[in-house]
Amino acid sequence: MVGAGIVGASCAYALTRAGVRVTVVDRGGVASGTTGAGEGNILVSDKEPGPELELALRSNDLWRNLDEECGGFEWDPKGGLVVAETPEVLDALTTFAETQRRHVPAADADAGAPPGAAGVVASLVPAADLREFEPHLAEGLAGGIHYPQDAQVQPMLAAARLLRASGARLVRTAVERFLVSGDHVTGVRTGQGDLYADAVVNAAGTWAGSFPQAPLPIRPRKGFILVTQPFAVPPVRHKVYTAAYVTNVASDAEGLETSGVIESTQAGTVLIGASRQRVGYDTAIDYTVLAKLAKQAVGLFPVLRTAQVMRAYAGLRPYSPDHLPVIGPDHRLGGLFHACGHEGAGIGLAPATAEMVTAQVTGGRPPVDPAPFAPGRFA
Ligand SMILES: Cc1cc2nc3c(=O)[nH]c(=O)nc-3n(C[C@H](O)[C@H](O)[C@H](O)COP(=O)(O)OP(=O)(O)OC[C@H]3O[C@@H](n4cnc5c(N)ncnc54)[C@H](O)[C@@H]3O)c2cc1C
Repeated sequence: MVGAGIVGASCAYALTRAGVRVTVVDRGGVASGTTGAGEGNILVSDKEPGPELELALRSNDLWRNLDEECGGFEWDPKGGLVVAETPEVLDALTTFAETQRRHVPAADADAGAPPGAAGVVASLVPAADLREFEPHLAEGLAGGIHYPQDAQVQPMLAAARLLRASGARLVRTAVERFLVSGDHVTGVRTGQGDLYADAVVNAAGTWAGSFPQAPLPIRPRKGFILVTQPFAVPPVRHKVYTAAYVTNVASDAEGLETSGVIESTQAGTVLIGASRQRVGYDTAIDYTVLAKLAKQAVGLFPVLRTAQVMRAYAGLRPYSPDHLPVIGPDHRLGGLFHACGHEGAGIGLAPATAEMVTAQVTGGRPPVDPAPFAPGRFA
């Protein structure tokens, strides 16, 4: 396994439970990549009907199970609230939620389930009821949609707990390249020598496309987070975000895009996002972006006006050109599997990704159709 982020750790956990012996190689240690720079939401609310939503619904179930199995990573099934500034935006959100609700996961459709049977749960929250959900929300909003399935974990803890629970060996060194014999990968060359394996899983996140023998079009998409000092009673109960977030997630723009995304953590801090821009591997702090995020947050939650920011950081989301993760056997080399390119949803999608990779490595049947995620789709 190359990479000890949330995806590599989840894959290690699922593979070892299936009886596979796993060695994880990471140049920086657990969660030293994007997993250490994200928020930790497990969302169905922002997913369009289609393959990613299928993966998200499956992952949502699996995260619940993981909390029972190894826990200790601040699992919080708090739900999400998407708010609309105008009646027009509320209409658009309502239509979007309706299409999500009508989406039936393929496995359930095969079993003859009607639309909405085991899919997304979403309900309209009229303007007058918003304060029941979020007492500190600004006045004047047109309403919102409540998504009770949205949840949250602390991503670094989750990666660390899953990796530890897996029992996999962790080697801290850089993978320089894959070892290839004929058209088959036989291991990896690392800074500490060669490691041989029957299968290699590439879970190197934003850097997963850069191995010369099996390149992939994964690119960095930068995002900032502001973290407030802890509140005794955090003022935000759900993951709260504006409709612009859904549009930004689906956009291919290179330039800066921001939307108000606010939530509390179990430690009492409030996390404020979200920005997206494609500026290469640069993680420098840009105070104009931070100021914009802070202004949007105060616009939604005026109570944050006096909050002290404790820290701010940037992370690089692993962006793939069609916004779908890259999961499955490499189309050029045998013995190589990819689990990368999850962009802004890698925490949420990690368990279902791991389940799919495990089925592919061990010859099982993935519960979600793997075809839309196949690495060969870019060839
Ligand atoms: C601001 C921000 C907010 C986000 N919020 C959310 C959210 O709320 N919910 C959500 O689901 N997702 C969120 N994300 C996205 C999420 O963080 C990522 O999709 C996820 O962390 C990717 O995990 P990963 O394991 O694939 O990659 P990483 O965590 O980057 O792990 C890859 C690992 O591979 C290692 N590596 C790379 N190259 C090599 C090499 N050559 N040799 C050895 N090791 C190597 C790295 O050191 C790293 O540890 C957010 C991201 C950002 C930036």
